[in-house]
Formats: sequence, structure tokens, C-alpha cells
Amino acid sequence: MARIVVLGSGFAGNTAALNLKKALGRKHEVIVVSPRKNFSYIPSWIWVGVGSMKPEKTQFDLTPVYKKFGIEFKNGAAEEIHPDSVDQYVVVKYADGKTERVKYDYLINATGPKLNFAATPGLGPDEGYSDSVCSLPHAVKTRDNFLKAVEKMKQGKRQKFVVGTGHGTATCQGAAFEYIHNLEFEIAKRGLRDMADITWISNEPMLGDFGVGGVVVRRNGNFISGKLFAESTFREKGIKWIDRAHVRNVKEGSLDYVNIEGKEGTLDFDFAMLIPPFAGIPISYIDKDGNDIKSQLCAPSGFMKVDADYTSGAKPFEEWKNSDWPKKYNNPLYKNIFAAGIAFAPPHPISKAFKAPDGTLIAPSPPRTGMASGIIGHTVALSIIDMIKNGAEEPTYSASMAEFGAICITSMGKSMIGGSAALLTMYPVIPNYDKYKFGRNLNYTFGDIGLAGHWVKYMLHYLFIWKMKGKFLWQYIPD
Ligand SMILES: Cc1cc2nc3c(=O)[nH]c(=O)nc-3n(C[C@H](O)[C@H](O)[C@H](O)COP(=O)(O)OP(=O)(O)OC[C@H]3O[C@@H](n4cnc5c(N)ncnc54)[C@H](O)[C@@H]3O)c2cc1C
Repeated sequence: MARIVVLGSGFAGNTAALNLKKALGRKHEVIVVSPRKNFSYIPSWIWVGVGSMKPEKTQFDLTPVYKKFGIEFKNGAAEEIHPDSVDQYVVVKYADGKTERVKYDYLINATGPKLNFAATPGLGPDEGYSDSVCSLPHAVKTRDNFLKAVEKMKQGKRQKFVVGTGHGTATCQGAAFEYIHNLEFEIAKRGLRDMADITWISNEPMLGDFGVGGVVVRRNGNFISGKLFAESTFREKGIKWIDRAHVRNVKEGSLDYVNIEGKEGTLDFDFAMLIPPFAGIPISYIDKDGNDIKSQLCAPSGFMKVDADYTSGAKPFEEWKNSDWPKKYNNPLYKNIFAAGIAFAPPHPISKAFKAPDGTLIAPSPPRTGMASGIIGHTVALSIIDMIKNGAEEPTYSASMAEFGAICITSMGKSMIGGSAALLTMYPVIPNYDKYKFGRNLNYTFGDIGLAGHWVKYMLHYLFIWKMKGKFLWQYIPD
């Protein structure tokens, strides 16, 4: 009997766990370790943050799902991994302070990101002055602060809103872009638009970059860039923007930034929602002599190294190759340890990285979206199944972000009648300028905007929750 331990129950971990158990049945053990017993449909937190969706609609309890599947669930946090012991194990810490050693034959690290607010002084809702939609409690607090600002506008007090990224290396520009449009939509819906100054600030080298090096689509014979698209949505709604910027610090009611050219500035705000940079979840890696071997298994960011070419990060942008990106997501030192979803260390950014004259790095980190995380979690599960059932000595399944595409649906306002969303497909996720003029295959890279996009976005919310609950025909819903 093999024992597979999955750390994390998000898009990557839950997808891996359900597929593993379905294929391996009772003969093998699947254990999920996670400090939260809920699955969260994170993409809808942008709606929670403006009060257009109830928080409880975005999550559900995984306990009955795991019970039905026969998956053992340990409601604690992985603190240490001991990959060198005769019995390889994870130390799990529970809320009451007790710890347990959980042995594994195969381990999947799908722990997602640590929200690294500390990287920018004053950033974040807990110890700083800005809001966030990157956890459910943060999104609820953001909603409350947004609604307070709405009340002030109703009383005739003009409000300044700032939305974007809170650090030069932050990712998730797409989520911030959705949030600013939903914020504008909610303000306009209440007839208060002329009371609000709304400003976008981001580390993208140009508007519409979204951390994926931008995108070009062909429509009606014309080539349209993500830059043109993003700019036109901001112009249409009277949203000002600052791009190519690193937020140096956030204070009560203002933030300081520097841009790629070295231009410094200060933005005043009454409300600011700024996405923090991400780091790996702090887990220790200990060898059989008790030494800390984290630097051998993880990148300096704390994300786990997999089968990527990490030497490529030192090369200039022009020399980055699609083959730098991982395919099988196994750790090079321990072939029974995998990292899936946000937990794996990317070899380098996707967008071109810049430095301000003072050396400040302004380089969006690569997004690893929910769809990519699900695909990677599923791929890793298939390799482990092959290793267990068929005795494969190496992981056999691959899914490189340089070889698969993505569908991104960007909400621009939530309403079944007056809402809209931009629907964008891109193939592949990592642009390949050697093969395609604009980096991507334009037969599979297209975009459209409208009410239908909102319906699709809304439908996906329920479809994915259905799938993540492992309900009837869940396995046929694409990752
Ligand atoms: C506001 C927002 C909007 C987004 N919108 C979209 C969108 O529209 N479309 C899209 O595709 N993507 C979107 N994303 C990105 C998407 O949410 C992520 O790509 C996805 O959640 C990554 O999945 P994951 O499984 O790697 O990590 P997560 O979903 O973060 O899951 C990590 C899991 O690990 C657990 N964990 C944490 N620490 C430990 C530990 N020590 N031990 C064990 N378990 C641990 C957590 O509890 C959690 O269960 C959005 C992200 C944000 C923040």
C-alpha cells in the first residue's frame, strides 16, 4: 500500500487528491493536510471585496467531500518536511499546538502562497494601511472599507481610490484589474461616479501586460494588444493610471512609489486595495542529521524547485526559452516530492524585468492561475498513479505552461443584465517568440468583451465548486 500526502487543499491540492483517490481506490492511502477545512473559490473574492457576493458563497467545507471519497483529512499545517529519513515524513502542527509525524511515500506540496505584506512597509490590512482581496477575511474587511467610502460619497465627501500592486515583484495584476473595474461599476451604479477619483498603480512594464508579457489578439483582421484593451477600458471609465511602478511604502492615506525611469511620486488615497507580493509558505526542510536543507529544495523566494532550468533566471530576457519551464513538477533531489500550483518556483518572470536607476527590481512575477494550478495538480496525480500502479520509475505525465493555454475571464462589473467581462484565451501561456510573431498562436488566442462574458464567469463559479466537491460527473469538467 502506498501513502500519498497532499499539502494544501486549494485548486492544485484538491484536484490532485480527488484524482488520486478516484484512480487508486482503497488499496492506497491519500491524506490531505491543510490548516483550513474549507475549499475557497478565490476568483470570486473580487466580488466579495465590493459587496456584490456574500463571502459564504465562495467556500465550502471539504470534510464531507473527503469522507465520501475515503480521503483522510488532517486539519493542520505542515511545518517540517524530512525527506531523508528512512520513513520520510511531514511534521503537521494542529490548532491546539499538538504535532504529528505523517509518513509519506509520495508528497505533493500544493501550499499556495504566503502573502508577503512585509516586503513593503505599511502594506496590508493587518499591520498596514491598505486593503487586500487575497484572503477571505481581507476581502470582507475590504468590502467594509469600500462601503464606508461609499457612505462618505453619499454625504458629499469626495473619495480617492487607489487599486493595483503593492510591490515591484507582485503578481495577480489580473485580479487587481478586475477589482478596479468592479469598484468603478459599483460606484457608478449608485450614481456616485463624479464623487470618486480612481487610480490604477501597477508594476507591469505596460498596461495590459498582466504578468504574462502582454497579449496580442486578432479581431476582424486587426491585431489588438492587451495594452490597447486595458487603456481603452480605463479611458472609457475615467480611471487614471501609473504603470512600471514599485510601491516603496504605504502610510495612512498615502503611498510613495518609484518607476522604472526613476521618477518618484506620492499618491494620496482614502481607500487602497493593493495586491502583495507572494512568497513560499514557510516550511522547514530537514535532513537525517537535523540540518536545514531548505536552500537545496527551494528557491530564495521559498517556492519549491522542480524540473525547471533555474540557471536561466540569470540570463537576459532575450535568452529566456520555453524549455526553461517545468514539465513534470518533481523535485530534482527527491523524485517522490512534487510541487503543484503556486507552490512551484518559476525559473524567471514571463514579462521583461526592469530595474529602476536605484536598482529596485520592477518585474511582475508570473501568475499561476487557478486553471494552471488545477492542470498541474492533475498532471502530478497522473504521474504518481503511474508510478504506483505501473511501476514507472520517473514521472511520466507532463504539462508545461509553455505548452498549454489558458482561459482568463476578467470581470468588469457583476450584474446579470448590466454586467460585463472580458474573455481572453491564450496559447501558450508562456509566449514563444521563436515560433510565433506575437509570441502566441493567434488561432487560439482571442478576446471579446460583453455581458455574455459575465454569464460565463458567473457560471464558472458554480461549475468549479461543483467539480471541487467531487459531485456527479466532476471528473469530466475540465481543470
Ligand atoms: C483575488 C484573486 C482573484 C483571482 N482570480 C482568478 C481568476 O479569475 N482565475 C484564475 O484562474 N485564477 C485566479 N486567481 C488565482 C488563483 O486563485 C490561484 O492561481 C490558485 O488559488 C492557486 O491554487 P493553489 O492550489 O496553488 O493555491 P491555493 O488555492 O492558495 O491553495 C493553497 C492551499 O494550501 C493550504 N496551506 C497553506 N499553508 C499550508 C501548510 N503549511 N500546510 C498545508 N497546507 C497549507 C491552504 O490552506 C490552501 O488550502 C486569483 C487570485 C486572487 C488572489
